[in-house]
This record gives sequence, structure tokens and C-alpha cells, in this order.
Amino acid sequence: MKFEKIVGQDTVKTKLIKSVKEQRVPHALMITGPEGTGKLALAIAFAQYLSCHKPTNTDSCGECPSCHKFEKLIHPDLHFVFPVNSSDSKGDGEKAAAKSSDTFIHLWREAILENPYISEPIWYNAIGIENKQGIINTAESSEVIKKLSLKSFEAEYKTMIIWLPERMHISAANKLLKLIEEPPAKTLFILVTEDPENIIRTIISRTQIIRVPPIKREHISTYLVDKVGVTPERAHDISRIANGNFNVALKLIGEHESGPYFDLFRTLMRCCYTKNVLGLLSWVDAAVGLGRERQKELLTYSLEIVRDSLMLNLGLDDIVYLAGDEADFGKKFSPFINGKNIQALNTELNLAIDHIARNGNANIVFTDLAMKLVKLINKN
Ligand SMILES: [Zn+2]
Repeated sequence: MKFEKIVGQDTVKTKLIKSVKEQRVPHALMITGPEGTGKLALAIAFAQYLSCHKPTNTDSCGECPSCHKFEKLIHPDLHFVFPVNSSDSKGDGEKAAAKSSDTFIHLWREAILENPYISEPIWYNAIGIENKQGIINTAESSEVIKKLSLKSFEAEYKTMIIWLPERMHISAANKLLKLIEEPPAKTLFILVTEDPENIIRTIISRTQIIRVPPIKREHISTYLVDKVGVTPERAHDISRIANGNFNVALKLIGEHESGPYFDLFRTLMRCCYTKNVLGLLSWVDAAVGLGRERQKELLTYSLEIVRDSLMLNLGLDDIVYLAGDEADFGKKFSPFINGKNIQALNTELNLAIDHIARNGNANIVFTDLAMKLVKLINKN
């Protein structure tokens, strides 16, 4: 995977490349950040860059024999460890104790090549353990030791990418710690984590930490327009809802037009302002008809518009992402969002999201929300 394939994250890319140029590649890296930000993709791109025969100043070449193997994730010096379930899953029928990442490597390659932003649930779904949590077991760390004691086959470095080290069994973690303390020569460990709190501190203290932030909204939007062929309006909507998580964006692309959120939000606010109860009730009907997933999206979208409107009200126009109709509406709407109601508006919208996510009755949730918003919007 070349760096250019990864959405945004220019600062992280530059930092990684600089460490190679200045020959300061650490022996253990920890890439940490929220889901859907490209951490695993960055780890793979970094390993590919390190091993590329003709790297440029900004990326691997994508054409040398090493890059070819990396593109398929089959380079002999690229190793992966990731959580799996030890029983009842799609592996190849081996005994529970013998199952490790290698058992699932084909499924893993397939899943990553399809979506390098893969999340934990997507992965567990791919190996058929939807509702269970995977684990990196002790047997796995013995495998790791065996693999790393071999000389590298082709590249200068052997790279061991450990995805979700927070899922390591404690004895596996202790074995890994020993390895990181006394690493085999020319070995690079890359730990890719979403939950560093659950990794033993002694491991963390031996790694160089790279923090990966949520992807910038405009980077998601531009990517969707340029590479996926989504219309700018829809890209704008999707990137707003995705809120830095590319998995959410990918999911939304797959669904039919998201469109009605802006109209629904505008209708709601107009009805609130004019205290139009009949209008509000028919708005509730429309919201209920969306279905749970899109209800959550509508609420998330509303939350973002409310925030942006406050920014407009405060005169911070340059950090506001409203476009087209939204921008016109935002200008007229922003005077209604201010220090007196912003906190309560945030709370109410977040509560509604929470209730919908926990299968609350949509009719009650949206009616309640609408009535509260009438009060809050007119609190001036
Ligand atoms: Zn190359």
C-alpha cells in the first residue's frame, strides 16, 4: 500500500518518511488513534516504504518487486499478528489451541485488501465470530519469536505488525515485552492500537508513539469526489457524518442517497421557531420513517450543524464547513444558537442519539426531542 492511497494524515506520513530519511527508524513503533483513521494502512505503507528499492521523497515506488509483494501483503518479511477466536470460527478446522494469526492469514489479506480501514467488528465478522471478542494468545507469541529469529528473506528489515495489541493475553504480552526489550537485529515492531490504556505500560514505554488524529473532513470530502466519483454535495454530507472515521464514510457511500438530512433539519428548526406543533408532529413521522441507522445519522448531522452555527454566531467563519444551501440557512439560523442554549442543545441531541442507539422507541425519542428544541430555540 502506497502512502498516496491513504486519505489525509499528511503530518503522520511526513513524520514516518522523515524517520527513514534520517535513519532514525525505531525498533518499536506504536501507532495509536481512533477507529477508521488509517492506522493499519499507515503501518503497512511505512513497512513498504522501508523495504522499497526505489523510494521517492514522499512515497514508495509501487513498482519494484518488493512493492509488488507488499501490495498483495505477501512479502516474506512482512508479518502480522491480530486477534482471532480460538474456536468455532472459519479457520481451517484445526484444534483451538493451535489457532493463531497464520490460520487466518488468507482471510486477513482479503479483508485488508478490501478495506485497509478495517475495524474490530468488521474483522470478527469476516472470521465468523461476530459477537465474541478475539484474542492474541500465548501460542502466538511463540510463533512471533520463531519468525523473527529467522534472517530476513529479501528486505533489510523484518516488520512485525501487531494489530490491536490490547487484545493480547497477559502472558503473550510479557513474551512480547522481552522481544521488544532485546529485539532481533533489523526488526521493526509496529503496534497498531485503539486502546493504549489496555496495553502493559512497560511495552508502551519501549515504543515510539505516533498519534493518528481523525481524518480531516475536507480530506474525506475531496477523496470521495476525486476517487469515488461522489457528487460534491453528497461528499460534503458524508464527510460531515463520518466525522473523521473513514469506515463510516465507506458505509455511507454504499447506501443510497443520504440527501434529506439538511431538509429535515431545516424543517425542524423552522417548526421550532414558529412553534408549529402540527408541523413538528409530521416532522416526527418523517424521522421515525428513516429507520434506526439513518435516524442516528440525522441526529449526528444536526449536532454538527448546530455546532457550526454557533461558530458562525461567534464570527469564527473560517472553521465552519457549511456549503451551498446549508451556508445560506446557517447565516439566518446562527443567531438562534448561542451561549444560552448551546450546551442544552448538545445534551438533548446526544441523548437522543444514545436512546436511538439503545433501541429506544423512536416516536417517543423524536417527539420529546422536538418539544425540548422548541423551548431551547426560543430561549433568546
Ligand atoms: Zn518499490
